[in-house]
Amino acid sequence: MFRRTARLLLSIVMLMVAALGGVVATAGSAQADDCYTWSRTLSQGASGSDVSQLQIRMSGYPGYGAVLAVDGSYGPATTAAVKRFQSAYGLAADGVAGPATFSKIYALQDSDCTPAHFSYAELNRCNSTWSGGAVSAAAAKANALRTMWKLEALRHALGDQPITVTSGFRSYSCNSAVGGASSSRHLYGDAADLGAGPHSLCKLAQQARNHGFNGILGPGYPGHNDHTHVDHRGSRYWSAPSCGI
Ligand SMILES: [Zn+2]
Repeated sequence: MFRRTARLLLSIVMLMVAALGGVVATAGSAQADDCYTWSRTLSQGASGSDVSQLQIRMSGYPGYGAVLAVDGSYGPATTAAVKRFQSAYGLAADGVAGPATFSKIYALQDSDCTPAHFSYAELNRCNSTWSGGAVSAAAAKANALRTMWKLEALRHALGDQPITVTSGFRSYSCNSAVGGASSSRHLYGDAADLGAGPHSLCKLAQQARNHGFNGILGPGYPGHNDHTHVDHRGSRYWSAPSCGI
C-alpha cells in the first residue's frame, strides 16, 4: 500500500517536472510572438504562406501609387517593399526579411496580428461581427487587417501621431443606415474613413498615395469634406480636389 502510494506520488512529481520543463522549453524557444512567428529568413525567390504573412505586413510599403500583392511569392515588388519598411524603421535596407526585420514586425504587431495602433474593433464600429457585407466574414476581416497595416505605415510616415478611423467595415444594413453608396468598399472591409486630428484631411489623402490605397476620396469630393476615405478597390480612383488630388 505504502509503496503504491509512494510510486503514485513519484509519478505525479515526475509529471509536474515534465510539465514545467515543457513550459520552460517553450518559453525559451519562442522567438517572439503570440500572433505569428517566422521560422526562416525570406528573400527574393522564396514562396509560401510565410511570404504571404510577410506581404500582409508590408502592404503599406508598395511605393507611390502601387499595391503590393499578397500572393505568397517573394518577387521584386516584395523586395522593394521590405527595403522601404526597413528604411522607415532604421534597419539595414537589404530587402531580405531576416531576424532584424521580423523583430521589428513582432514589436509592431498585437497578439491578434493587428498592428499596434489599430484594432479590429476600430475597423468595425457599425456591428459586432464581420458578416452581412459583400464578401464572407473571413474575407472582410482579412481585408480589414491589410488596411490596418497600410494605416500603420501611413501613421509612421506622418510622424507616429494618432490617426482615427471613424468608419470601417459595414454590413449592408449598417451601410444603408449611414447612407453609404450601394457599392461602397466599406461592404468589403477594406475601406477606412479617417477623421482630422494631428493631420489635416488633405495631409492624410496626399500621404495615403504612398501606402497601397487604390481608392482615396477626400475634401472636395462629394460627401467627403469631413473625412478622408481610403480603400483597396481593384483599380486606382483618387479624388480630393480641394487637396490637389
Ligand atoms: Zn468611406
